Amino acid sequence: MAWRDVMCGELRAHEAGRRVTVAGWADTRRDHGGLVFVDLRDHTGKVQLVINPEHSPAAAETAHEIRNEFVLQASGEVVARAPELVNPNLPTGQIELQVDELRVLSRSTPLPFQLDEENVEETLRLRYRWLDMRTERMQRNLRLNHTAISAIRRVMDERGFVDVWTPSMTRGTPEGARDFLLPVRLQPGKFFALAQSPQLFKQLCMVGGIDRYYQIATCWRDEDLRADRQFEFRQLDLEMAFVEREDVLDVMEACVVGAFEAAGVEPPQRPFPRLAFDDVMLRYGSDKPDLRFGLEIQDATEVTRGSEFGVFKNAPCVRYIVVPRTFSRSEQARLEEVAKEWGAKGLANLTQISKFLSASELEAFGVEEGSTALFVADEEAVAARVLGLLRLHLAHELGLIDTGLDVFHWVTDFPLFEHSEEFGGWTFMHHPFTAAVPGEEDRIEADPAHVRGQHYDLIWNGWELGSGSIRIHQAEVQQAVFRVMGLGEEEQRDKFGFLLDALQMGAPPHGGFAMGIDRFIALLAREPDIRQVTAFPKIASGADPLTGAPTPYPDSALKELGIRLLEDPSQPE
Ligand code: ASP
Repeated sequence: MAWRDVMCGELRAHEAGRRVTVAGWADTRRDHGGLVFVDLRDHTGKVQLVINPEHSPAAAETAHEIRNEFVLQASGEVVARAPELVNPNLPTGQIELQVDELRVLSRSTPLPFQLDEENVEETLRLRYRWLDMRTERMQRNLRLNHTAISAIRRVMDERGFVDVWTPSMTRGTPEGARDFLLPVRLQPGKFFALAQSPQLFKQLCMVGGIDRYYQIATCWRDEDLRADRQFEFRQLDLEMAFVEREDVLDVMEACVVGAFEAAGVEPPQRPFPRLAFDDVMLRYGSDKPDLRFGLEIQDATEVTRGSEFGVFKNAPCVRYIVVPRTFSRSEQARLEEVAKEWGAKGLANLTQISKFLSASELEAFGVEEGSTALFVADEEAVAARVLGLLRLHLAHELGLIDTGLDVFHWVTDFPLFEHSEEFGGWTFMHHPFTAAVPGEEDRIEADPAHVRGQHYDLIWNGWELGSGSIRIHQAEVQQAVFRVMGLGEEEQRDKFGFLLDALQMGAPPHGGFAMGIDRFIALLAREPDIRQVTAFPKIASGADPLTGAPTPYPDSALKELGIRLLEDPSQPE
């Protein structure tokens, strides 16, 4: 006999009279002395089982043993409920199953938490993830993963992309994070890095004539875990030959819209707006602005050049936002505190400083009654960052964000390099394989501060979904970029010799993108973090509460790898 011939959530009124077998988990049991009611659940929903001792004494006996989450198989007749017993909140609420055969297929020990319990501590949920997965929330989220990824695969397929598997065990890939290292028994003392992305492999696929590559690739990055970050995560990774930026953006937009439609969510309008990096940094103080609300940053540097107010006059940059309300003195003081924590010297409120300002300045600011202008006067980078953070902070505090909106946009034309305090030199903004904007290649070495890269990011409601770029396809240009980053000839050969060789053997122009699938699905599921859409995530300490990994290994195993631990590995220094 089949374990089941119908799913629990599928039975409807017109099936009354049918004999069926269902199987699933006991969601709740109500024992009324004689009659026992069990809600039996599978991923499609619940159905009410009625076990009546007069009808089936054996089933009634079994029913008394049932506890929550026992796995049951029940056979019987579908019967219509009396009108007063219909449950309008349940799709199967018009019927119940009059059980005549009942088997306990599997028992459960008492549960560490109930499935319908709210606010269960997350580590506990993850320790018993198989239970947590049975909740409606996790079922919905994991299935949404599948729906969205299937839709993306369909788009890729329709557009002629080829799924190529690339290695996880490789050399370090410069994506800006630390590598996870993997010792190898056959090569003691040497390590593979787990791929931070398939970046160079996908470029090599282009040199290899694949033309349209994609992969739902797992990537590993040793970074602190956060709402939108896990050590390992998936990217929709793609690369295309003989394309320009717009071709890549078009494919990505089709994937986003395809996934929205498959999930039954109203998709965003295409094309998504393209905003230049300089513009978003000025107006929103961030390269991944949340555009669901205004509070745009305005520049007042010019207007305040001749100001009587010394703070403005002497500052390299003066910027402000206008907030549609007023603040009490204590509220203002609190905001200023926050701004200082972010690195501002102060936060000026127009009402408090207006006596120092000229009529033309006041007119330029154009602040209406009931609104407040808040100023930061500082280095440009500080003014942008602090006002960008303040903009977000106030939008949340004042409830200015319409959470029903899905705003997508691209940020383009990033600088190719940024100055790194840490290395005291130039480093890449995206990764070192990004091409300069056409016509700016000559400046790569001559004026690295002012070269723009053909780099683009995709942003959804202030979350960076991913990045991509048109790549360098000429070895000489690639070497120029390496030189700017301070890599000598020898180091270039050592780390990237294979890439330079490939770029010298017929590399087509190419470009691509990678979108964080887990971030995308978390947002699509309206979840606050990616753990809620990941089957078996790790917690912030970097541990897996379910398996207990990572674990120590015996010295004998380490010895084979040529590794000896420090006396106290938690104190490496
Ligand atoms: N490899 C890049 C990343 O992982 C994406 C890309 O440039 O395609 O962010």
